[in-house]
This record gives sequence, structure tokens and C-alpha cells, in this order.
Amino acid sequence: IPTMSTLSDDIHNPKTAHVALFPNAGMGHLVPFLRFAALLLRRNDCRVTLITINPTVSLAESRLTSQFLSAFPQVTHLQLHLLPMDPATVNSSDPFWLRFEAVRRSAHLLRPLLSSTSSPVSALVHDVTLVSPLIPIAQSLSLPCYVLFSSSARMLSFISYYPTLASGLESSNSESNPFEDGLLRIPGISPIYKSSIPSLLLDTNTLFAQILMEDSPNLSRLNGILVNSFEGLEKESVEAVNGGKVSKALPPLFTVGPFPPFEFEKTEWSTPTGWLDQQPDGSVVYACFGSRTTLPRNQMREVGEGLVKSGYRFIWVVKDMIVDKEDDNELSEVLGLDLIEKIKGKGLVVKQWVNQGEILGHRAIGGFMSHCGWNSIVEAAAHGVKILAWPLHGDQGINAEVVRASGLGIWVESWGLGCGEIKSDEIGERVREFMGSELLRLRAEKILDMASQAGGVGGSQQKSFDKLIQEWHIKK
Ligand code: UDP
Ligand code: UDP
Repeated sequence: IPTMSTLSDDIHNPKTAHVALFPNAGMGHLVPFLRFAALLLRRNDCRVTLITINPTVSLAESRLTSQFLSAFPQVTHLQLHLLPMDPATVNSSDPFWLRFEAVRRSAHLLRPLLSSTSSPVSALVHDVTLVSPLIPIAQSLSLPCYVLFSSSARMLSFISYYPTLASGLESSNSESNPFEDGLLRIPGISPIYKSSIPSLLLDTNTLFAQILMEDSPNLSRLNGILVNSFEGLEKESVEAVNGGKVSKALPPLFTVGPFPPFEFEKTEWSTPTGWLDQQPDGSVVYACFGSRTTLPRNQMREVGEGLVKSGYRFIWVVKDMIVDKEDDNELSEVLGLDLIEKIKGKGLVVKQWVNQGEILGHRAIGGFMSHCGWNSIVEAAAHGVKILAWPLHGDQGINAEVVRASGLGIWVESWGLGCGEIKSDEIGERVREFMGSELLRLRAEKILDMASQAGGVGGSQQKSFDKLIQEWHIKK
């Protein structure tokens, strides 16, 4: 803890911390790191070095990184060039998971990069997918090491408990069944439904499971975990983690959310604000399943029909392929001409990157049909937009439980996790139900107030940043 005199010295000597940020692949990981960086740079007492992976998986990542670097020329940019990896040696076909593994295998290259900066780095903040490979490197350089977690505090609780769940899953003894009545009981938090847990984690041989089994026990070696969340959204999990209820071994959790969207994220063509400007307040549904989640085409068409049947106007972002570079089919081919005709005059369908922060902030938006990527949830919370949760994979089910418990939105139990075959009549009805709910609207407004407090002057975000910068002071 710095003494009073060092604190006041720092006021006259502003750039006393130098943090290196290292996100892993995917917009869901890059976006929060860049917003976090922008918040640090706004303070004027911290230098930032950004480490990115070359090449990126998606075009969206390389575009956003260059926009960020042009907006903040003071940032030092270092690139980690990956060693070649034979995909046959990895138990996953998902391009983003393959990349996570490739970065893990190239992680030792980070050491010379970190030592190469002209002014010394005083802390490393990295992606949650790199815990075990990066801790020894940070230690060998005497750098404090933090994770900027890309999901909810509830997901963090789950991850830290995962080795216990995994040993229960692996044991053939039925008495050790880790689920009781279909529920997973983790100390300190409300039970997690087995049905919210992705199938990739119910099988301990998958890459996701193996990474978690290796990394979870090492979370205790971090100096801290930063989460883009705030108490108004996740009081239970934040208190449980910080009170040592989930696990006594977890390091301090810093609530640094909600991250606001920034100017550097805007592109000229990416937001249909002209159309939105013509719509009444709170009247439009925004439907988007994030940067890397696709629905099968038949399910996509049911979504389109359902939105039309709901009677509400809508903006719908269609995604046909996981990686944007490969997503070049015409909308007419993906949706069919019939559906495109039906949509005319009722909604706007786009098959390109939109600026979601700007859309959610538009007064015309009244609700968000979302896959429950964590960034999307926090963006909706920070704009007071209610959610119709439709989680599909990964952490999305556990995040959807947060949406439901906080009152920010509804999750239709029978839709479950993943992609069943939800029919358009059902979708239309649920859209009407959630768009028409006054209770949800009021609750979303309340959450917006709490988000503004957390992110405002003297709020939890500022307190966390102050504390972190103190910990990151360059030792003279
Ligand atoms: N996003 C966006 N435009 C799009 C799709 C996604 O701006 O067309 C942003 C969204 O606002 C969020 C991020 O990309 O910040 C996606 O992260 P999230 O955690 O919601 O989901 P993921 O894509 O990782 O599944
Ligand atoms: N995750 C993790 N360790 C890993 C990979 C992922 O803890 O090695 C967490 C992380 O919070 C991530 C979530 O699991 O956001 C879901 O990962 P996935 O890649 O399915 O989704 P994404 O966040 O990229 O949309």
C-alpha cells in the first residue's frame, strides 16, 4: 500500500503505471480489452501496451484493432506471431478455439516481447484463456498478473468450481453425481441448472474442458481478476467470489464495468440510424446473436417469420458463417425471397457488422433478442434495454441465468440451451410478451440507473481503476 507521500508524488508524476494488455481471439474478447484500454487512457496516469495476435481469425478483429490504434497513437503495439500448429492435434473444430490453443502453444514468445518495450511494463492483464501459460512468464519478469475476464462473475464462479464438477463427471460412482435434481450447487451462489452448462463441459475430453481443468486451479496465482460487471447486475456472484464463499483460493475480483462503447468503434456504414430515427421511442426489437454464433438456416427463417408475426418493427443482424471472412452469401440465398418480401416495411435485416453500442443506445430500441454473450448483456444493461434471452453455447446459458435473475429479461425455459427447432409462432408470441412487459421495462430502467452509478464519478468502476493503478505503480 503506498504511503501518503508516494500518492501525492504520483499526482505530479502522472504516468506511473504501464500495463500490457493481451486479449485472445474473437470480438467477444477483443472488444472488452480495447474498451478497458480506452478507459485507462482517459485517466492520463497509465501507459498502455497492446499485444495482438497475428494474423487475426476475423476481419472484424483486425479492423477494430486498427481503428483503436489510430484513435490512440500513444499506445505501443506489439504483435505475437504464432508458431504453426497442426489442427489435427487439437480436439476442436471451432476456429476460435483452435486459435486459443495455438496462442497457448506460442505463449513463450511473449517473454521477449514484454522485455522489448522501451519503458518497462509494470503489470500484465491477459485473457482468461491463457492463465496457465502466462503466469510463469509474468513471474519470471516479476510482473503482477491479472485476467480481464470476458464473461459474467457467475461464469467465473462456475469456472473456478469446474475441476470439482469434472471429477464428479469422471467418477463412475453414482453417489458422486455432481447434479442434484438437475442442479449444480456451488457454494455462495444460487444453483446452476445442468441444462445451462454447455455440452462441451459435460464431456471432460473436449478442449474447453481440458483448458478449464488446467487453468482453474491456477486462478489462485493471479493478482486479481477484472470483470466487466457491476453489483446492480450481479450482486450475488460478486459478493460470493470476494467473500471467499465460492473458493477461498480466488484472488480479488475487481468490478470494472460497465464498459461504455467508444468513438473508435464507429464506422461510417455500420449503423442504420436513419431508419431508426423514423421509429417511435422504444418500439423496435433488435435481434443479434453476437460475432460468432450462427443459427441453422431453417431456424434463421423461423426467427424472421417470428419477428414478422410479432407485429413489432425490428432490426435483425443475420450471420450465416462463424468467421466473417467466409460469410459472403447473399441475404436472399440465406433467407429466401419469400421471407425477404414479408419483411419489407416491417423490419430491417442486415448481414454485416453493425455498431451494436450505437443501436442499443438509440431511443427507438425497446428490446433485444440476444444470444447472451456477456458483452451484449452488459451493453443492454447499460442502456436499460430489456432482453429476450436465447443462449446457444459456451457461457451463454449461465449468462442467461443472470439476465433472468436480475430481472433484465426473460429466458423461455423450454427453449433451453442450443438450437432446438423453435417455431415462428412461438417466437412471435414471446417477442410480443417481452416487448409488452411494463414490469421488465421498469426493471431495465432500474438496472440502467445502477449501471450509471457504477460507471459514474465515484462509482465502483472508478474505485476499481484507482485501486488497480495503485497496484500497478512502477516500483522505483
Ligand atoms: N457486436 C457488434 N456488432 C455486431 C455483432 C457484435 O458491435 O454486428 C459486438 C457486441 O456489441 C459485443 C461484441 O461484438 O460488444 C460481441 O461480444 P459478446 O460477448 O456479446 O458475444 P460473442 O460475439 O463473443 O459471442
Ligand atoms: N472461457 C474460459 N476459458 C477458456 C475459454 C473460455 O474461461 O479457455 C470462458 C470465457 O469466459 C468465455 C466463455 O468461457 O467467454 C465462453 O467461451 P466461448 O469461446 O464459447 O465464447 P465467447 O466468449 O468467445 O463468445
